[in-house]
Amino acid sequence: MDHGGAQGRHINIPIFIPHMGCPNTCVFCDQRRISGACDPVATDNIRETIEKYLTTSSSEDYLEIAFFGGSFTGIPRYQMMAYLDVAREYLEKGVVSSIRLSTRPDYIDHEVLDILGRYGVKIIELGVQSMDEDVLARSKRGHTGEDVIKAVKQIRDFGFEYGIQIMPGLPGDTLEKTLETANKVVEMAPSQVRIYPAIVLKGTEMEEMYKAGSYTPLTLEEAVRWCAVMVPIFRKAAIRIIRIGLHYSELLEDAVVAGPFHPAFGEMVEARVILNRIMGIIEEDGLMGCSGIEIHTWKGALSKTLGHKKVNIKALKEKYGYSYIKVREEDLLPGQVRVFALYGGDRL
Ligand code: SF4
Repeated sequence: MDHGGAQGRHINIPIFIPHMGCPNTCVFCDQRRISGACDPVATDNIRETIEKYLTTSSSEDYLEIAFFGGSFTGIPRYQMMAYLDVAREYLEKGVVSSIRLSTRPDYIDHEVLDILGRYGVKIIELGVQSMDEDVLARSKRGHTGEDVIKAVKQIRDFGFEYGIQIMPGLPGDTLEKTLETANKVVEMAPSQVRIYPAIVLKGTEMEEMYKAGSYTPLTLEEAVRWCAVMVPIFRKAAIRIIRIGLHYSELLEDAVVAGPFHPAFGEMVEARVILNRIMGIIEEDGLMGCSGIEIHTWKGALSKTLGHKKVNIKALKEKYGYSYIKVREEDLLPGQVRVFALYGGDRL
């Protein structure tokens, strides 16, 4: 069976590898707490997980084995290679199409990249979090922005595809610093990014900081606003945004102490991106004074354009005093919106 057809679904086979002996002390990380509760992943479990996904996928699907958990290349070499051995076996059989993993920028060097290349790894994701030195230091990341640039250069030289994860709202962060981080990420030209606003989790140093009053997480509104400014920066640079906000799970919800955690966070950000675009057009075209507007959005984007519980419509009415707003899906390119003035309910 040959997996990897262009018509099928993209299926990630997630394999969580907690970093038990991690020598770092990132203030937001709860892996120490989580990994205390579980044993190292056995290769048999990895095999089982892959087999389970294979039984529910079709030959058209593009399957990707994804090792995640933070710092795959920081675990003992023999263990890392044992995990990769299993993955490579499925890659060579042609039943999966790709292997990806996530790691820290300072756990990248020529030796490790050479190993990853030999095992057929395709995509390396770097947990960067911020490119601001003060934010990195206050978050006790243990690496600098320079380390990130160096790691990206090596990864690129080896010919891997790479992604970058950022975490707005860490200690000392501001909107300005986050935007600078976004712009520096664009300069590093990854093919993809993930945006995870910082959340205070149980058992982390950030929880202690939060309780002591030395750290205040972003509010949900701030996080949505910050992310909605970042998203167009990445889209303009043709960088794929593969995730905005943490995946919801009951386990995670139990672990959240404070911060902008919401199951529909990504959709809230997408809706705000559209709202910002609509407001931009209103201001540019001088549509502030009319009694109403008609918005045209692309096919499939009606609910995003209205916003959750019509929050976008309410915001527009409140800001510009419109009495009525019509929204229609039209034959437009994804991301494209048009706004027309309405007078007495009709377009002129
Ligand atoms: S987030 Fe930091 S502390 Fe946690 S596993 Fe990764 S490197 Fe270690």
